[in-house]
Amino acid sequence: MEQGKRHLAGLFPEEIESQLDGVPAFRARQIFTWLHKHAVGSFRHMHNLPQDLIKLLEEVYQQVWPLELVTTRVSTDGTEKYLFALSDGGAVETVLLPEEDRQTLCISTQVGCAMNCSFCATGRSGYERNLTAGEIVAQVLYVQHRLRAEGKTLSNIVYMGMGEPLANYEAVLKSARLLNHPLGLNLGARRLTISTCGLAPQIRDLAEEDLQINLAVSLHAVEDGYRSEIMPINKRYPLGELLAACDYYTQRTNRRISYEYALISGFNDHPQHAEELGKLLQGRLCHVNLIPINPVGKEERPTAQRIAAFAQVLERMRIPVSIRKERGTDIEAACGQLRQRSLEGWS
Ligand code: SAH
Repeated sequence: MEQGKRHLAGLFPEEIESQLDGVPAFRARQIFTWLHKHAVGSFRHMHNLPQDLIKLLEEVYQQVWPLELVTTRVSTDGTEKYLFALSDGGAVETVLLPEEDRQTLCISTQVGCAMNCSFCATGRSGYERNLTAGEIVAQVLYVQHRLRAEGKTLSNIVYMGMGEPLANYEAVLKSARLLNHPLGLNLGARRLTISTCGLAPQIRDLAEEDLQINLAVSLHAVEDGYRSEIMPINKRYPLGELLAACDYYTQRTNRRISYEYALISGFNDHPQHAEELGKLLQGRLCHVNLIPINPVGKEERPTAQRIAAFAQVLERMRIPVSIRKERGTDIEAACGQLRQRSLEGWS
């Protein structure tokens, strides 16, 4: 693929219409429907289009998606990791978490990440660039295309792959609206979850979008000194500012916020920390997701008993809490393990 080649995956029907000068609006809507609702893999499968339009699309765009699958890995627990090549030689990973009653896709929003959280493999590999809305959506369309062949469909999308979604605000929002579009996949905003390390101003912006998107906030520590130690973003937006933005989000959307808390042995896993976390969140519309750390550096994961004890403290304080089921560790597809920036080194 040539760099900068135009693609249709990131465009609304009206934008497809204006890009394909002279094509009537109903044709643009048909193209959008084929791309998003039916998730077809080639222009030839857009059966209700005239042959000359299909030919034109093939000439101008060549491919329906602005990315290509390089390879996949499947975990013993059924988790699937996809490596996609982008047009400029960059690469991103996408993770499918199949369950009996739902198919959740974890998508990337940037090549690398600039946030530099100490415990995250993506941050360690540095930041390259933002993905376009088309590149974000295409991860979904590609996997949906594959699932369709098995008679399945994606039910939930989590923006929890590589990158900080709110640092790529415009493209992420556009991708959410595309996934939400009635002529497309029509995924309700409540089936979408955006996870952030805590960009307070963008949380406020998101609150004003009039979308019912779920917000997940990576907290990991409840005291500024501690949090800044592992998440540099905390120096810019300390806890007070972050939680005020979260409260504003709840106030505007009435949505329950999910607080992610990665448990690191000897650092933030003491029952006392659980109590402080409980106190901080008491009275807030929230849910706590405990993530046993997947060590990428010298961090260690607490024992199962220690994790259970942490959860119990929160339960006693009547804070809704769950322990995230660990998935895909064997194929490096678990939280914080995604690190691909380019095609080199994939195995
Ligand atoms: N940038 C966004 C989304 C990407 S990470 C964010 O920070 O929320 C998704 C979640 O995985 C975040 O809660 C992140 O803090 C967590 N995470 C990162 N590295 C991890 C690791 N090594 N073990 C467990 N969780 C990790």
